[in-house]
Amino acid sequence: DLQGSFELHNGVQMPYFGLGVYLSKDGSEVVNAVKDALNHGYRHIDTASIYNNEEGVGQGIRESNVDRRDVFLVSKVWNTDQGYDSTLKAFDASLERLGTDYLDLYLVHWPKGDISKDTWRALEKLYREKKVRAIGVSNFLQHHLEDLLTSAEIVPMVNQMEFHPYLVQQDLIEFCNSKGIQYEAWSPLMQGNVFELDIMKDLASKYDKTIAQIVLRWDLQKGVVTIPKSSKKERIIANSDLFDFELSEEDVALLDGLDNGKRFGPDPDNFDF
Ligand code: NAD
Repeated sequence: DLQGSFELHNGVQMPYFGLGVYLSKDGSEVVNAVKDALNHGYRHIDTASIYNNEEGVGQGIRESNVDRRDVFLVSKVWNTDQGYDSTLKAFDASLERLGTDYLDLYLVHWPKGDISKDTWRALEKLYREKKVRAIGVSNFLQHHLEDLLTSAEIVPMVNQMEFHPYLVQQDLIEFCNSKGIQYEAWSPLMQGNVFELDIMKDLASKYDKTIAQIVLRWDLQKGVVTIPKSSKKERIIANSDLFDFELSEEDVALLDGLDNGKRFGPDPDNFDF
């Protein structure tokens, strides 16, 4: 169901379906999106300091009918804050803006060479101090993970990656699975482009579901956490209505087969900081 979860390697339950709020404007837009989501069953919100909407996210949680402790709240340390001391500072600033005293998951937003090892030591400290229930990374390819693991004392619990039928990176998923790292999708709707694909239109009519529901259901059947973004109440509600059907194995494979490596976001190996 919508409040179901995958278990992270430290035993924490991570709701496998959440709301993304990238490009949701701080103020009433993000406040209402978060409130609408939580009041309709979502229990997981994905923000980042760079989204400039943490204050509104915090306000939305407080104005919802859901207790803070029942929300899985995620934020990320931005590139310019990487490094040990600056990450600790950035974390406190995020807590302050969100109006909370802990996070459920804190992520290194992008890999940034050796400095990410210092960033990771800061996340380990925050985790040991119980200021955050789980720590992880985002946009780490296998070689970034292997490099981090040479010095990490705690294996990241999550890797949040661009993931949709055009960018499956099955090898990376399997590498993460082998290390106990939960795979998570960003831009699961291809930033809106998935709605243009004929094959998605066909599957939607076959199952009598929407294109969003089909692709998000595929994420969950692949064991991938997903955080579609919308700030429209009707879409927020409809996107999560995917627990009354199942894609056949053949149709899961059909979507896997659309993989052509096309990205809609930056390439982690060529990201301009
Ligand atoms: P997405 O794939 O979730 O697509 C969002 C777009 O789809 C929006 O334009 C929205 O209006 C549209 N949409 C949503 N539901 C729809 C529906 N039912 N019908 C028609 N259109 C619909 O894109 P995203 O926001 O880039 O990714 C989701 C979340 O992932 C973000 O909000 C953010 O939280 C996270 N993210 C993380 C990173 C990272 O580097 N870690 C990068 C990008 C996004």
